[in-house]
Amino acid sequence: MKFFILSRNDDLSNELMKSAKTYLEDFGLILDEENPAIVLSIGGDGTLLHAFHKYKHLTSSVAFVGLHTGHLGFYADWKPEEIEKLVISIAKKEFEVTEYPLLEVTINYRHGEDSSIYLALNESTVKSPDVTLVMDVELNGVHFERFRGDGLCMSTPSGSTAYNKALGGAIVHPSLEAIQLAEIASINNRVFRTVGSSLILPKHHSCLLKPVKGPDFMVTVDHLQLLHKDVQSIKYRVADEKIRFARFRTFPFWHRVHSSFIDSDLEI
Ligand code: NAP
Repeated sequence: MKFFILSRNDDLSNELMKSAKTYLEDFGLILDEENPAIVLSIGGDGTLLHAFHKYKHLTSSVAFVGLHTGHLGFYADWKPEEIEKLVISIAKKEFEVTEYPLLEVTINYRHGEDSSIYLALNESTVKSPDVTLVMDVELNGVHFERFRGDGLCMSTPSGSTAYNKALGGAIVHPSLEAIQLAEIASINNRVFRTVGSSLILPKHHSCLLKPVKGPDFMVTVDHLQLLHKDVQSIKYRVADEKIRFARFRTFPFWHRVHSSFIDSDLEI
């Protein structure tokens, strides 16, 4: 089996990367950066986001596994002291694959430029570079509201514990094929009105954002941030592609939520 390892690039993560590489090669696995079957991410959830974006063109064939060198992560749930157990599992075991939904982001431009299409593992946000964001929000082609405020955040279920949570959005189990739209500081008074709650959209529903003010927007896709000029619309939907995680043991999502946000008693 072909593998690749990504490290957060701190001393501990690099040291663990070296030993994991040696162990896996001793077991006969082949290091292959181009076309790995399994990618081991060593660092944090942020490191796994980078790993996902490096291999997002291989979603149907690559499986990810994460080891955390800081606090427990949602994507990085193996501990440094479990490195030997993890590499033995990778080398010896047929692993199960758990799939999580992804977000598809399509940005259309006003002057016939080709659309940009992205996949997000956590979320995509839209903000205006210097003024209040004013966007018409359409759900399945029907006008829903005119949003005024700092921005909008559309997250995946596994991204619901990241930026979305800080915005007061719900935590969504990743077995649900859905996306969640959360407001970032909406302006609400007698003149301007938005729904004020997060909206959870099922698969096959879409959300279209149409600029009312200003054609240029800062759009993030996970850790990546780009200024898009002359934007006509931004479309969000549940992607056809999914991310695949290699599972060698069970660690239920709600246990991870409890361990990360309440206390670490349930950490395994
Ligand atoms: P980053 O340092 O890579 O990540 C920021 C924090 O978010 C880190 O503590 C990271 O955990 C954690 N995180 C990432 N994905 C998570 C998930 N699915 N569930 C729970 N926590 C998660 O920052 P970045 O490179 O700028 O952007 C990456 C992510 O940061 C974005 O996708 C966004 O979700 C998040 N972010 C959060 C806020 C906020 O909470 N107010 C604001 C902006 C961005 P690790 O330490 O394990 O890497």
